[in-house]
Amino acid sequence: MPKSVIKTTKKKAGSGQEKILFRAPRGMHDILPEDQPWWNKARKTIDEVADFYNFSRIDTPILEEAAIFEKGLGTTTDIVSKQMYVLRTKGGDRLVLRPEGTTGVIRAYFEHGLSRLSQPLRLYYVGSFFRYERPQAGRYRELHQVGFEMIGGEDDPIYDAQMILVSFRLAEELKIKNLIVQLNSIGCRNCRPVYRRRLQEYYRKMSSGVCKDCRARLNLNPLRLLDCKEENCEKVKSGAPTIINHLCQSCRSHFKAVLEYLDELGLPYTLNAYLVRGLDYYNRTVFEISSENNASFAFGGGGRYDYLGEIIGKRKTPLPAVGSALGMERLIEEMRSRGVNGTLRSRGRVFLVQIGSPAKIKALGLIEKFREANIKALESLGRASFKSQLRIADKEGVDLSLILGQREVFEDSIIIRDMKSGNQETVPIGKMVEEVKRRLK
Ligand code: AMP
Repeated sequence: MPKSVIKTTKKKAGSGQEKILFRAPRGMHDILPEDQPWWNKARKTIDEVADFYNFSRIDTPILEEAAIFEKGLGTTTDIVSKQMYVLRTKGGDRLVLRPEGTTGVIRAYFEHGLSRLSQPLRLYYVGSFFRYERPQAGRYRELHQVGFEMIGGEDDPIYDAQMILVSFRLAEELKIKNLIVQLNSIGCRNCRPVYRRRLQEYYRKMSSGVCKDCRARLNLNPLRLLDCKEENCEKVKSGAPTIINHLCQSCRSHFKAVLEYLDELGLPYTLNAYLVRGLDYYNRTVFEISSENNASFAFGGGGRYDYLGEIIGKRKTPLPAVGSALGMERLIEEMRSRGVNGTLRSRGRVFLVQIGSPAKIKALGLIEKFREANIKALESLGRASFKSQLRIADKEGVDLSLILGQREVFEDSIIIRDMKSGNQETVPIGKMVEEVKRRLK
């Protein structure tokens, strides 16, 4: 191993220095036991919200054929053109570490004939996604998302409103406050081309004032011009024509209805005429959810994607669908910075202290008795000293300790120690669980 690969890091005071040979890949992170309470809370809340709104869980493979993203998201999108982790298998297949969830879900919808189920089919997923982006605060190369999809049925605007509602409620249930929904409609294949031309005409005139990337977008994917965060490009954007003024009658009334549903619900939203979102598959409603304090840092977003089914499933007609995805890292960072508590693991109620090898031999079997009785029992089987075991029992905050020494093994008994009062009582081992239950009441 070359010396330069060996990095050292200072661990917390008292633990000295440890040499680190390997680190997690750049932009990827470990979710340590100390982080898990927030992840547990997020996962549990996701399951509860999904269950209430009647979404069923779906899990799709982490790897998918590269072609489905190229077709589904569009080759000119940043995700496909710059951010995909592509690999070739020994068998010659070109696979991709999935950069997003919707495309795989739609692939599964067709592959398993899920249109036979009641439509719109409500599905949700939770998992890892991979994007080769420049890592920075809140931006990772392995990210986790929860996604909701409503697939099939009608393109009724009530589903768009409900999708926004579900995403909003999830963030709210995680105690994230001051949420705001930004909303726009990006039209359909009838009205969008007209707008796209207007946008190109405008940007052609202004092309000297925009960045290099935007000059490329002008021909390849003009809608993405509106996504650029460069200062000069932002200035140019502020004078650009808006799609809202170019929507066809049908898209306009669809969008108006979505807004009416949101008004009726009292969900706070603002119209953002330049919100287009990064992916090609969206049509009509697009939205993002962020906090009022930092509107450009979205927790999640989504929209309608009626054409994806045609692309992935070779349908002759659109497959109405609407979805949303929220970034778990961002939700969790927000929870933690707001002081929201996570969900802790359950507390042990009893602790088995064993002294001497005959007791150690019996210990594993005794713990099983508590498992059968559904009482969480802790132990420290590798330790021999009575004192150190009792200290751990105290630290764990158990109600009772059960002490088994050589004499107790010989007499078929066990000592029950009340950790608060320090009182101890010897009981027959056959009555151990019953006696513990009585004291835990
Ligand atoms: P998208 O799939 O791009 O629409 O993103 C949906 C949400 O996922 C965003 O609002 C973020 O919360 C989160 N997200 C997207 N990309 C990343 C990333 N690279 N790192 C962390 N979170 C991300």
